[in-house]
Amino acid sequence: MSIKQPFQRNRVYQGTFLAYIDKNICGEVLFLRRKDTDKKKRLSALFPSIEKIKWLAALILLAGIICGSYTLSRYVAGEQVKKREAAVIIDPGHGGQDPGKIGVNGAKEKDINLEIALKVKKYLEKEKITVMLTRKTDEGLESAGASNKKIEDMKARVHMINEVKPRLVVSIHQNSYQTEDVKGAQVFYYVHSSEGKEIAESMQEILRMLDPDNKRKAKANDTYYMLKRTEVPTIIVECGFLSNWEEAEKLTDEKYQEQMAETIAKGIMENLKK
Ligand SMILES: [Zn+2]
Repeated sequence: MSIKQPFQRNRVYQGTFLAYIDKNICGEVLFLRRKDTDKKKRLSALFPSIEKIKWLAALILLAGIICGSYTLSRYVAGEQVKKREAAVIIDPGHGGQDPGKIGVNGAKEKDINLEIALKVKKYLEKEKITVMLTRKTDEGLESAGASNKKIEDMKARVHMINEVKPRLVVSIHQNSYQTEDVKGAQVFYYVHSSEGKEIAESMQEILRMLDPDNKRKAKANDTYYMLKRTEVPTIIVECGFLSNWEEAEKLTDEKYQEQMAETIAKGIMENLKK
């Protein structure tokens, strides 16, 4: 049974709204009260949530910064490692507008240099040796509007070598002479480099495996820009004479280029062991 209570009106504030509530309708009053309490609870519950969100955001931001800096440091380190890991630089001489020597058979030195250099790189990479080339295509390193293309090209090659600082640089060239009878591969080194001398002599010896009749000896030089300006041991391998028919024909033959490249790669590996 329900007992009727005397009718009363009460003012109840809820938010900014003013409402008249019948006190007898207990359910409604309770509901409003509970609603009020819930709202307070909700409000009080909301503050820790905002705090939590703030902390979470701060943590995410911190994690992001850590991850970002780690990735950046790895990237930077990777770039440095990549540079350091170029144990050898192969420099195919000439290129682009500079053909180098022209063979008796019409072959251009720049093309033979690049072919042999690419093959040397291939052989070295098979042995997990990191290799860089100063040029990979038929073009010099000078800028388009360079006033002195040859000087700018040489400077760019030397700059690359001195930046990377490999353990060894081998510049690939082909020789030429006034008389046709002169032939044979020859290695050059900078006159003031004892290390260069040792490497060149060792390379000359290994090249003899390809041509036992070649009696040439490694030769000192004090004028070649590549030898003078590089800050790491550098040798120039003149693979043969394009002025000699026999060698000009051999040097344009892919099989011989492979043999020459393999021999140079062996010479490089021999010197990297030291
Ligand atoms: Zn040359």
